[in-house]
Amino acid sequence: MSNENLYSLALPGVQKLIPYKAGKPIEELERELGLTQIVKLASNENPLGPGKQAIAAIQKVLPELALYPDGSGFQLKQALATKYAVDASQITLGNGSNELLELVARAFLTPECEVVFSQHAFAVYPLVTQAVGATAVVVPAKDYGHDLEAMAQAITPKTRLVFIANPNNPTGTLLPQADVEQFIGALPDTVICVLDEAYFEFVSQTEAFNSIAWLNKFPNLIITRTFSKAYGLAGLRVGYSLSCPEIADILNRVRQPFNNNTLALVAAEAALGDAEHLHNTISNNSQGMQLLTDGFKTLGLEWIPSAGNFVSVNIQREGLPVYDALLRKGVIVRPVANYEMPNFLRISIGTAAENNAFLQALGEVLA
Ligand SMILES: *Cc1c(COP(=O)(O)O)cnc(C)c1O
Repeated sequence: MSNENLYSLALPGVQKLIPYKAGKPIEELERELGLTQIVKLASNENPLGPGKQAIAAIQKVLPELALYPDGSGFQLKQALATKYAVDASQITLGNGSNELLELVARAFLTPECEVVFSQHAFAVYPLVTQAVGATAVVVPAKDYGHDLEAMAQAITPKTRLVFIANPNNPTGTLLPQADVEQFIGALPDTVICVLDEAYFEFVSQTEAFNSIAWLNKFPNLIITRTFSKAYGLAGLRVGYSLSCPEIADILNRVRQPFNNNTLALVAAEAALGDAEHLHNTISNNSQGMQLLTDGFKTLGLEWIPSAGNFVSVNIQREGLPVYDALLRKGVIVRPVANYEMPNFLRISIGTAAENNAFLQALGEVLA
């Protein structure tokens, strides 16, 4: 048998799977182009880095790394339970919230199931759906956001799972909380709803999130959140879900026994208590969003108003060549042609210096 034929042994969904394409790592661009001063605004990471308290917590546990982590994540779950007024039994920790999306798919989907999500929604939803051989039902977006009415109409007796990203990545669109609540309330009990709130910390206070309160009335609701974005710990891979205890129990059955490492557990717990770093992160983000969108205005470009730490801008021509030209100037952004947005680039909000460097480079490339 030739090695090529090994593909035919893989699950049908896996045979056709195109792996997730991450933002280009800084080191890779350094190697390829011999550049040094690289600005990466491609993966919605925290431009301020991890907080001091998280770093201190990591340094403190380094001598204990010969021991396995606490597989139950007791301390971190206690901290989350206190902060969000839930019971620890409602929390599932994941190796990034990405792992939780995968665990949900593995625990609930068979090849007979349909999974509903929006056009332009986060790329991991189709991936986890296809990997288990389930059928993705992609609902056309409305003004780049989720069309909840159309999504409700797409539910069939085969639907087992719905993904909602609020705010969504890469569009940054935010759904009104009341609309989301109504949508989930109208779902059949047999449909699990994952409400992906990876960016909720960036949403302004006026849009106050009350999704946790819905857990009491919606047993089919799973909220996912992460330490990768606002908390600046993307490299450690920690996310969590909030759900009823029964769903947490189900997810707990399919996860690896030690899916969060020791450094991740202690850093996330410390980060949760570091209000100052979170505050600085959010304020840098709103200033940076203003700077970037003012810059777009000056360049005559339109963008999709974003509630996250990134913004997708319409550059009125094919995005890939502009992405490449920016790379050659040492600026990494994210092309989103794979999200059916070929004329857009997604820019993560950086520090003021990074945002200015990007705007300067973009102006030069588009001139
Ligand atoms: C970044 C992101 C995640 C997951 O990030 P993790 O690092 O795996 O926690 C989940 N959902 C959306 C919409 C994202 O943009």
